Amino acid sequence: MGITLASKRKEHFMKPFTAQITHVYHSGFIVETINHTLIFDYIEPDKSLDVTGFNRHDVFRKWISDRNNVFVFVSHHHQDHYMPSVLDWQAANPSLHLVAGYDVPVQPSKNCHLMNPCEKLKINEVSIETFGSTDDGVSFYVQADNMSFFHSGDLNWWHWNEFSPQQLEKEELDFKKEIQPLCAKSIDVAFVPVDPRLEEHYYLAGEHFVETCKPSLMVPMHFGTNFDVTKMFSSKLTNSSSSIAVLENCGQQLHYEKK
Ligand SMILES: [Zn+2]
Repeated sequence: MGITLASKRKEHFMKPFTAQITHVYHSGFIVETINHTLIFDYIEPDKSLDVTGFNRHDVFRKWISDRNNVFVFVSHHHQDHYMPSVLDWQAANPSLHLVAGYDVPVQPSKNCHLMNPCEKLKINEVSIETFGSTDDGVSFYVQADNMSFFHSGDLNWWHWNEFSPQQLEKEELDFKKEIQPLCAKSIDVAFVPVDPRLEEHYYLAGEHFVETCKPSLMVPMHFGTNFDVTKMFSSKLTNSSSSIAVLENCGQQLHYEKK
């Protein structure tokens, strides 16, 4: 299983059993497979990063406007995971499916689906299963084109240093309980929080996820503008059976090939 950085997106051309992953910002990713475009927790990059090409209009033009089989996932309503203007995408491309956690303030309709944890939904050729979170909303397990993707949303091991020992124990148990049913799943690519605000405990969720669920590729997320934490994480897990992506900027692309 190899990861290479692609400098330019190939226009709609994908081989079977491959995925092109574009990191937008924070927990936002665009996953392209041979027949599908899956967009997770899109928000616009922080202005301080001075990134061009990834505001909502750019993303619509490049990845959505002329495509079928576009799925936009919103794990929960927090503003670092949900930008209400994604609803404009659906208005402009009515074939787009919006799939959101139960707490996202949208009106369900033919192509707009609200999901609770532990639910399943099949839309055309895409299978979606929700898992829990240790904050609001859901996490998503998505199968498309014979590959499987897991996006955590805010499912994280929230080990805040200011918490009491009792609170910390509860956070650990809650996280492990939500992850447990995922261990039986085959996961090609998992997006898991590696949050530098947790200081020296930033790695706990990612390490536990990799050890128990063994995704082929783990992509760190939920680090805002602190890209260095992904390198630290990858260095820490050099002996893991999963490949660990290192992200260095918004717009970075990873090429995944299923083995
Ligand atoms: Zn979050």
